[in-house]
Amino acid sequence: MSGIAIHGGAGTLDRSAMTPELEQQYLNALSAAVSIGDQIIQKNGSALDAVEAAVKYLEDFPLFNAGKGAVFTHDKTHELDASIMCGNTLKAGAIAGVSGIANPVSLAKAVMEKSDHVLLCGIGAMKFAEFQGFEVLPESYFHTDLRYNQLLQVIHEDGIFLDHSVHTDPPDKKFGTVGAVALDKHGNLAAATSTGGMTNKRWGRAGDSPIIGAGTYANNNTCAISCTGHGEFFIRAVVAYDISCLMEYAGLTLEEACQKVVNDKLVKFGGEGGLIAIDTKGNICLPFNSTGMYRGWKSESSEIFTAIY
Ligand code: ASP
Repeated sequence: MSGIAIHGGAGTLDRSAMTPELEQQYLNALSAAVSIGDQIIQKNGSALDAVEAAVKYLEDFPLFNAGKGAVFTHDKTHELDASIMCGNTLKAGAIAGVSGIANPVSLAKAVMEKSDHVLLCGIGAMKFAEFQGFEVLPESYFHTDLRYNQLLQVIHEDGIFLDHSVHTDPPDKKFGTVGAVALDKHGNLAAATSTGGMTNKRWGRAGDSPIIGAGTYANNNTCAISCTGHGEFFIRAVVAYDISCLMEYAGLTLEEACQKVVNDKLVKFGGEGGLIAIDTKGNICLPFNSTGMYRGWKSESSEIFTAIY
């Protein structure tokens, strides 16, 4: 069995703010990302390469909050977070607070494969990127008017805001992080997540996306998970690892574990969002406790499915 699932963020999505053309753009991008990952799997490639390639595509797509199109910090910069994990080796790599890197997921993979470390942050992570030959791009590459206008709406306020939460009234709360999970034909699982974090963030804030066990986790004994939502809650609930533990130690199915964590534990916590998950048999779960989650998936013999609400 094999399979792949991807997400482009969850949240309180206001249907009336979406035009048919924009919706089609999102669905096309989700479908393309699934297809890119699936082609790697069908050619006997690794789940790790499949999730990296799918996330890279979503990072390059400016409507999602990762890579190009990432949200602005309070200082009008971009600070990117990403992580990746291999379920076979339990090796993982992550970066937090990095600027100028077009595909943070590939830098996270380089941390996993070419360093002795798991998580590199800020200036040090950028030095590592240059040492590994990553091109460092100007801030202008990451600029989109949509994100800049979102920042201008809230820059004088004290809080931080999830992307798209600031341009409608009442707020359209959307979490535009991207992620992918996959099971390859060799039985190996992998997960990856990439984000710009939250609009108006400062003080080096990082969410759950670069935290192994919170926003990303993969283990060949259980499942692969990539999360999206209000990162502070996902860190405190150790969401991704909790699902794996419920399967490994309590014997829950993927579906049972996902429902318990996303629609019970996180709801009681006040943590809005969702996640994508795949288990060792290729079962796919895409739970969210918000009104929508941009998502796409394909199991071994199925067609590609995409959905938002
Ligand atoms: N989880 C991300 C964060 O808190 C946000 C998101 O999912 O869009 O940084």
